[in-house]
Amino acid sequence: MFALVDCNNFYVSCERLFQPKLYGKPVVVLSNNDGCVIARSDEAKALGIVMGTPAYMSEGLFKQHKVKVFSSNYTLYGDLSDRVMKILASFVPKMELYSIDEAFLDLSEMLYHDLLDLGIKIRKAIMQNLGIPVTVGIAPTKTLAKMANRYAKKRFKDVGVFYAISKELINEMLQATDVEDIWGIGKQYAILLKRNGFRTAKDVTKIPAEWMRNKMSVVGLRLWNELNGVPSIEWEYKPKDKKNICKSRSFGFSTSDISILREAVSNYAAICALKLRNQNSTCRYVNVFIHTNPHKPELKQYQGSITLQCEKETNLTQDIIGYALKGLDIIYKPGGYIYMKAGVMVLDLVTENAVQLNLFDQRDRSKEKQLTATVDKVNTEMGQDTVRMAVQRFERRYRLRAEKLSKKYTTDIKQILKVKI
Ligand SMILES: [Mg+2]
Repeated sequence: MFALVDCNNFYVSCERLFQPKLYGKPVVVLSNNDGCVIARSDEAKALGIVMGTPAYMSEGLFKQHKVKVFSSNYTLYGDLSDRVMKILASFVPKMELYSIDEAFLDLSEMLYHDLLDLGIKIRKAIMQNLGIPVTVGIAPTKTLAKMANRYAKKRFKDVGVFYAISKELINEMLQATDVEDIWGIGKQYAILLKRNGFRTAKDVTKIPAEWMRNKMSVVGLRLWNELNGVPSIEWEYKPKDKKNICKSRSFGFSTSDISILREAVSNYAAICALKLRNQNSTCRYVNVFIHTNPHKPELKQYQGSITLQCEKETNLTQDIIGYALKGLDIIYKPGGYIYMKAGVMVLDLVTENAVQLNLFDQRDRSKEKQLTATVDKVNTEMGQDTVRMAVQRFERRYRLRAEKLSKKYTTDIKQILKVKI
């Protein structure tokens, strides 16, 4: 048996945790740069606020119904996500982090008899220790567990757990799920199935296997197996290392000032370098790119990108920043171009241990590595970028709009909540 644990309206739940007066009130969280709605409380959903609507289009609705609006606070969400996952890991030996607010649990090797009870305990533990509401779906395959989770949210909201233990319960759930709501089905296949008269997940289980393979390839066959209770999707117990790492953002405002571009590029490069070190990788190439705003055709348009080969595989912040800035100097075009986005990518990653040593290397790499490890340690303990390269500066002048940002309640000692007694 497998379980899917999913945090309910996760970003909204994180915000409410520190502002309890918002329980029962409509709350939404906006994407980067305060662009679109990316999370809604149940009350906001009931008002008809649709996922992905641009914020400026809903301003009237927000005002009218006193909707509380937040900029996205990924530092907070990331930290609370870690805590949720740690609690989950204390219950099961094997799990897969599926997204920031979802995890699959492998219950196959557990002696637990009453999995419904386990689901309820997990839910309670997360509520008690963190205050984040979650829903648990338990079923014989990943696809069914995902469906059980959705079904629990629809039918058993108060319990928050659905355990598809018997054929009858699985059938009930399959019957209640439309084909387009099956996990991983994709729009095209959903249309194909419907056109052939298959409306619910139950209908799909009755399709001959051959038809599925012919019309929907192995993906369809795998899905068919999963719906019929045969596990066919592989597990990723350890997150796969990324093949390349990219950090890019639109600026909060457009600019032609190269010093602002340098500040942004060096900060993005520093993030890439840290991510490389966190997965024990090094890179062989560094790419940097900048471009103007393509949605403003009345302005002069330009896109520049260049990839530089590193002298030697590296994950040191000073190296990656160095290459990125060298690249920026080459691609930057002055003369009336107004830039809105920049990015840094590190490519062709190699595991740190596999790096060849060079006999003629002039640099004391072990010393540099030690220094970097110390800087990382300081930054882990005292907050991101406490120690940084001078070129990264402090002002973050390229920063995104985030006018409604909540505090870093759990990761910055200066922003911790104060309680008056
Ligand atoms: Mg969720």
